[in-house]
Amino acid sequence: MTDELPSSRRPLAALAGTTSGEPEALARPEVSFEFFPPKTEKMEEILWASVKRLEPLGPRFVSVTYGAGGSTRERTHATVARILRETSLVPAAHLTCVGSSRAEVDEVARGYWQAGVRHIVALRGDPPAGADGYEPHPEGYAYAADLVSGLKRVGDFEISVAAFPETHPEAASPAADLDNLKRKIDAGASRAITQYFFDAEIYLEFVARARKAGITVPIVPGILPVTNFAQVVKFSAMCGATVPDWLARLFEGLDGDTETRKLVAATVAAEQCRALRAAGVNEFHFYTLNRADLSYAISHILGIRPQEAGPREEGKDAGGETGG
Ligand SMILES: Cc1cc2nc3c(=O)[nH]c(=O)nc-3n(C[C@H](O)[C@H](O)[C@H](O)COP(=O)(O)OP(=O)(O)OC[C@H]3O[C@@H](n4cnc5c(N)ncnc54)[C@H](O)[C@@H]3O)c2cc1C
Repeated sequence: MTDELPSSRRPLAALAGTTSGEPEALARPEVSFEFFPPKTEKMEEILWASVKRLEPLGPRFVSVTYGAGGSTRERTHATVARILRETSLVPAAHLTCVGSSRAEVDEVARGYWQAGVRHIVALRGDPPAGADGYEPHPEGYAYAADLVSGLKRVGDFEISVAAFPETHPEAASPAADLDNLKRKIDAGASRAITQYFFDAEIYLEFVARARKAGITVPIVPGILPVTNFAQVVKFSAMCGATVPDWLARLFEGLDGDTETRKLVAATVAAEQCRALRAAGVNEFHFYTLNRADLSYAISHILGIRPQEAGPREEGKDAGGETGG
């Protein structure tokens, strides 16, 4: 029965790539997971339980964010180093331009290279809380494109950058923002990861515009499973992501009901991934907020199953000798 429906209408079978006659693009998708460095011992425990839970899914990489204004420099480094030491995962360290000179940023990058980290998510960064807008450091990298060039001088890192399907809020125009993305790719980035969005069309239209502008690298959709709707509304206002009315309606009356919120969140994210899969998308980046359950469930629905331990070992670099 499901085989008679167009792929965009086939519900979960299409999502898992299990119906006959699916396009090749529906092979097992690739996923990556994003974490933030923990502040307390309790948060550290939660993070590591999540890392261990998601590890067997064999993500392409896991990334660790860098706090606003570089505030988590040591914690980001420590988290990335522990991932390298204690797991089979390939870590990607986020790095930003904010509040540091070029020499300081280069030093952090060299430290990563020497530790064996080969993937950096290069960002301009947001100003620290309370600051009045973004001001480049007088001796710093002004924008992410400059940072990408600088990183390539330090070592031949794999570099991912941010992309904004709904346009970055400070951009002069959507076209100027796309030009900026192109500059980041031309400077050496090989993947863009998007800000989260909730309507698949927003992403698909953005990718179409990017392709037209000559951007050919993978543009991986950033998926945010919504666990705290009020917080998402607040954050979306700052980062320029639209929170659709239908999403607000789905979370109506659930403020005190964590369990139902989780079920709704998983359903929303799974449906979003289904629509993207139906359009041929084969790679997803999950903003886990250090919780494994939703990202694990959605990955499972996408057809991803635990793998034998260790298949990613060969993707890791021992490092230590070849600092750029
Ligand atoms: C996947 C992802 C991960 C993130 N991780 C982190 C993190 O770990 N830590 C953190 O602090 N933040 C993080 N952020 C947030 C990010 O730092 C902010 O969104 C920031 O405001 C923009 O970063 P960017 O790298 O896109 O900046 P840029 O690419 O430098 O662009 C910033 C703005 O400047 C404009 N612009 C660029 N170049 C020029 C120019 N020459 N002249 C004029 N305007 C210009 C762009 O159009 C855009 O509006 C992340 C965002 C995403 C999507």
